[in-house]
Amino acid sequence: MRSQDYDRIFLSPPHLGRHELNYLHKAIEDNWVAPAGPNLDGFERDICEFTGAPHCVALTSGTAAIHLGLRLLGVGPGDEVLCPSFTFVATANPILYLGATPVFVDSEADTWNICPERLREAIEDRMRQGRKPKALILVHLYGMPAKLSEIVALAAEYTIPVLEDAAEALGSRFDGRPLGTFTQVGVFSFNGNKILTTSGGGALVTNDKQWAQRTRFWATQAKDEAPYYQHSDMGYNYRLSNLLAGIGRGQMELLEDRVKKRREIYLWYKNNLQDIPGLILSQTEPTGSRSNRWLTTVLLDPAQTSTTPEELRLHLETHNVESRPLWKPLHLQPLYATAPMYGGPVCEQLFAQGLCLPSGSSLSEADLHRIASAIREAVQPLPS
Ligand SMILES: *Cc1c(COP(=O)(O)O)cnc(C)c1O
Repeated sequence: MRSQDYDRIFLSPPHLGRHELNYLHKAIEDNWVAPAGPNLDGFERDICEFTGAPHCVALTSGTAAIHLGLRLLGVGPGDEVLCPSFTFVATANPILYLGATPVFVDSEADTWNICPERLREAIEDRMRQGRKPKALILVHLYGMPAKLSEIVALAAEYTIPVLEDAAEALGSRFDGRPLGTFTQVGVFSFNGNKILTTSGGGALVTNDKQWAQRTRFWATQAKDEAPYYQHSDMGYNYRLSNLLAGIGRGQMELLEDRVKKRREIYLWYKNNLQDIPGLILSQTEPTGSRSNRWLTTVLLDPAQTSTTPEELRLHLETHNVESRPLWKPLHLQPLYATAPMYGGPVCEQLFAQGLCLPSGSSLSEADLHRIASAIREAVQPLPS
């Protein structure tokens, strides 16, 4: 068959429910398109209720939330911020926005998140140089909970504040508790390909009421309390619109269902692909945790198959199936070529061997069969 015989299967397309339109409709009917309004308040309440976070501020993007979150943690010019190398560039760019420098750390092989041992090395080495890191960004990659107990304990030992980048991990849990709430500041993204979407959007959650107020203040141009426009501090235009928050309200109703569906997709792949020699579903949940399985990822082991991830990706493309390489480590990016890096081989190998498979919650059983048979065609054993 030719690729045009099929509809395209996307990696992680938006999946809307039945209520988003009601919230949007109400906002337009009430002429409450701007400024902040009932949908925005409701969306923030929904996020607080789901995560158990005391305070939430909805913003234009996850990147904006990381930017403001780092500023809350006091990051400024000349500071260093610890950050996993194996993540999307949006995790680290706000460090640069603030005039600070990232210090990158390798992953561990179980969850693919920041490695506690390399992290300790990094902290101790920076401190020996008289450069105590100002903050740590903790990422839960592809929704997979990081080794939270070890990392939170390590950060506490050295009194380094932590920002939890849970952009990919809304709905994931650790010890029954939703990710994004383990430190003073957590961040979610509602970008188009995430588990829930507002087309574009983000949120910052915190347990500190004053921090939430400061975040709202910065996100709306930092206007002083005066009848005219007076500014003592530098702000941004980062507040989510009341319209998009309406989409968010409809989406939040679906979160548990979407997590369940993505977990089923992961299990389906696991059950139907794990007999293929050299194809490995390796990202594993730490005991007591539950990943939202935002994206199902596979590794191709060059000791068992001659097929590379890029060959697999191109083969899937001929079947009109979208797949994507894993995040290219940030220490390998031209943008970050001069940033310090602790370790490296783990995330470099993951990048070299891995691929993200279509994982959207709207995938049908027929879609999954189509993807699996295309994978089976592509992945070849080593020549004997
Ligand atoms: C998507 C993402 C972000 C950024 O979120 P946006 O809403 O797209 O700005 C940050 N970190 C990670 C790990 C992400 O996957």
